[in-house]
Amino acid sequence: MIGNLESAVAKKNGEAINVPFFAPHLTEREIEEVTATLRSGWLTTGPQVKNFELEFAEAVNADYAVALNSCTAALHLAVEALGLKENQAVLVPTMTFAASAEIVLYRNALPVLVDCDPHTGNMDLTDAEDKIAKLKAGEFPCADGIDYEAVGIIPVHVGGNMLDISAVKDFAAKHNLWIVEDAAHAFPAAWRPDADDPWQQCGESTADVTCFSFYANKTITTGEGGMAVTNNRALADRIRMLSLHGLSNDAWQRYSGSGSWDYRIVLPGYKYNLTDIAGAIGRCQLARAEEMRKQREAIAEFYLESLSQAPGFDLPPFPENRVHSWHLFPISLNLESLTIDRNEFIEELKRSGVGCSVHWRPLHLHPLYQERFGWNESDLPAATKLWSRLVSLPIYSSMSLEAAVHVVETVKQICAENARREIYMAA
Ligand SMILES: *Cc1c(COP(=O)(O)O)cnc(C)c1O
Repeated sequence: MIGNLESAVAKKNGEAINVPFFAPHLTEREIEEVTATLRSGWLTTGPQVKNFELEFAEAVNADYAVALNSCTAALHLAVEALGLKENQAVLVPTMTFAASAEIVLYRNALPVLVDCDPHTGNMDLTDAEDKIAKLKAGEFPCADGIDYEAVGIIPVHVGGNMLDISAVKDFAAKHNLWIVEDAAHAFPAAWRPDADDPWQQCGESTADVTCFSFYANKTITTGEGGMAVTNNRALADRIRMLSLHGLSNDAWQRYSGSGSWDYRIVLPGYKYNLTDIAGAIGRCQLARAEEMRKQREAIAEFYLESLSQAPGFDLPPFPENRVHSWHLFPISLNLESLTIDRNEFIEELKRSGVGCSVHWRPLHLHPLYQERFGWNESDLPAATKLWSRLVSLPIYSSMSLEAAVHVVETVKQICAENARREIYMAA
């Protein structure tokens, strides 16, 4: 449980311990590999990235992996490669980060926001069914006279707790939708329908394209980076081409010994390729991904056990038949039993040196979605209610036991000091 950055992240300042919300877990190995890459003279997409792609595809049991400079780029190219265009609609959970829906807007298509499960925060497929029916009936909140056709769905595995993939696939098949998985939180993660079934990695035939993030605070990092994973050769080729100006050859193919200087511009593409410097970090992180996941799981188990009897909040579910990446550890405050609200709760955590975050203010509570599409609080009631209660506690692989104990004691103390009396006595 104790990583080499432990002294840096859980330093004792006299009495006070400061626990950051997250700390990347880097070793000498990453530093050596970056140095070796710099010395090699090849800095942009090259051998490190090629090997990172091969190793990543193997790790998730997928046929093809294309490294990109972010998960947002992976999501963008996935929907473009699938042919998303205007007058088409895509189901996107409202409980997600900006990226999952903005890439639909890049294509001038319509993101149809879907409510969440009140416990997991994951997309609620019953509401997705309802939203599709509304779209077909022309009752959609943004009635702009256009007949939108729903063509895709973008599930997000919130915090690394995977959705039921077979339910998503059944839903997509019923409505003839493609699936692009926003798996920014879900590496490594796995699911199975039942205890007798084999595990399936996130990215192993779980969607048409699965997109991972290697942003600085994700479960493995390259500073900035992402990966698009698919079993569809044509999609992989198209994503790769779009990632580098729509050229028929990438730079490594052109400048390495066997390659040619020549290329053809086939499509108007983008500049979304990953550097070899980042690829070198990614390969080291990938090799330690499961070890780091187990360290986060140990923290999660410690929280679940130490906080199970504490009043004032609900703990995140730890479902059977999931390998949870434990990217996040969100608690949901029981506001009825507290005299303070979520924001005050966070202020109290900060006062005790505990970093935290909120995942997320749902998309329908942002000006872009309210003003452009007319979404309001009552359109997505579960997410509206859940978000005002959410607090993500610190969880990262290099976290020390001392830091985890400080988080647990602080949370318990805040709840005890701010308990609404009648309910506290009755409980
Ligand atoms: C971090 C994140 C992204 C974006 O990842 P980048 O690599 O920063 O582009 C997308 N979706 C979700 C759910 C995320 O948390």
